[in-house]
Amino acid sequence: MPLLHKIAGVVVVCAVLLGLVLPGERRDDGGNEAEVERVGGGHPARPVDAERPAPGAGAAVPGTASATPSAAATAPIQAAAPAAAAAKANELGQVPVLMYHRILDKAEQSLDRSTKELYDELTRLAKGGYTPITATELASGRIDVPAGRHPVVLTFDDSTPGHFGLDAHGNPKPDTAVGIIQRVARENPGFRATATMYLNKDMFGLKGAEASAGLAWLLQHGYDLGNHTLSHPNLGGLSAEKVRAEIGGLEDEVVKLTGAHTGTLAYPFGVPPEKEEWAREQQGRFAFQGMFLAGWRPAPSPFSEDFDRWAVPRVRSEGKIKENDCEKYCSTAWLEYLDQHPQERYTSDGDPGTVTVPRGLQDGLAAQARSIARVY
Ligand SMILES: [Zn+2]
Repeated sequence: MPLLHKIAGVVVVCAVLLGLVLPGERRDDGGNEAEVERVGGGHPARPVDAERPAPGAGAAVPGTASATPSAAATAPIQAAAPAAAAAKANELGQVPVLMYHRILDKAEQSLDRSTKELYDELTRLAKGGYTPITATELASGRIDVPAGRHPVVLTFDDSTPGHFGLDAHGNPKPDTAVGIIQRVARENPGFRATATMYLNKDMFGLKGAEASAGLAWLLQHGYDLGNHTLSHPNLGGLSAEKVRAEIGGLEDEVVKLTGAHTGTLAYPFGVPPEKEEWAREQQGRFAFQGMFLAGWRPAPSPFSEDFDRWAVPRVRSEGKIKENDCEKYCSTAWLEYLDQHPQERYTSDGDPGTVTVPRGLQDGLAAQARSIARVY
């Protein structure tokens, strides 16, 4: 769907041009949710959080279910483990969620990335101390990476053939996205081989038994399957029935092929339907941990009061080119920014059961995270 994706790119550019966010102000601006929502949804007047649960509510944040906000807000926060402080943990920092589309030997059009560009970016992440986690893990606050390392989410949209396929020996083809991730993990100990694959009905061009064998390989090797609808429509213009047919139809297909459900949904073009609940759950058919948008900034920590699991922004993978203001808003620019501002980046304390933050930042904790918070 390259043409449609181009249109999506234009929507992003238009949002920037309309002054929804001014370059240079964005990174210090805490009020970005509405802007991201506009980019994703194209619904400028829509309230962002009115009908949403509090950030992280209902999440699988360990040990937080019984904490009421009022009690948690006044409870003293325990001291962090010395090792967490030594690692300069900041589990309220930002997490880049990188968005990839087609992966080709040579990029042909906007949004494509070459196999070399993907290899180079993943190698840079590995050498920069990043450890991939999945979209489902981010949305549900299950972040288990070693102390001192930084989570990153790799997402691949549209299940095109360049993302994945198995060779005659049953291994991922080396020139696919999954083959490249596996290679970078082999070359860089500590770089976990995982990604979230947002599927459409074409399923990497695999048919029948190939599709079920392929999806089974991904699940067995720790990859995360996500829903990106059957035919990639703009959900913003569809009835509830059609939205559910698109999302449920893809989900039915995945369940048929794997016996398992997807964890999260990425809206085609980043556009939610008129009522978001149409997409979130259909009894007995699908129920997601989170929703992923397009966007132009890293995601807040899932333990931050700024996190909204129903509207998680992603950053397009691209160099600092002029198009779409990638000089500031695409992956190369953001990874440089986070290298230069390490205090704004999520750094793990190494313990998935605690949320460690430097003293002074604890006011930004989501209420549900306070009971497992630690300060230093
Ligand atoms: Zn897509």
